[in-house]
Amino acid sequence: MGRGSGQASDHAHRINYLYQAIHTLHCTKGSTDLCRSYASLLKKVASKSQTRLSRTIKRSFCKKCDMFLIPGATALLIVDDSVVDKPSPAEVVTDGKNSIDQTSSAEDTEMVPAIRIVCAECGASTIL
Ligand SMILES: [Zn+2]
Repeated sequence: MGRGSGQASDHAHRINYLYQAIHTLHCTKGSTDLCRSYASLLKKVASKSQTRLSRTIKRSFCKKCDMFLIPGATALLIVDDSVVDKPSPAEVVTDGKNSIDQTSSAEDTEMVPAIRIVCAECGASTIL
């Protein structure tokens, strides 16, 4: 009677509830310890039920200390201009016809800076 799918949606509901609870707790009371324990619980539920967390949820927690990352409050956003995607040698060495198109597309990728989010609690950084 669809027992398996019902369990999967129960886990998804629980993860969703925990995520909203963490967000609300952090915004209203600022209780970081409770938020952290809820975050570790959320991760535990996801791994036990083999539910894949969305990128948004995954990136909103520190990988090291489970802190809920809010830029300006519990995390720093750093735009790193020094890290630049350089074109690979295979892209540069081409025929005379395509070289103009290749260089123009390479310039577009060169202008993209790396954005890092740094946890204010433990200092762990993640490239977004
Ligand atoms: Zn951290």
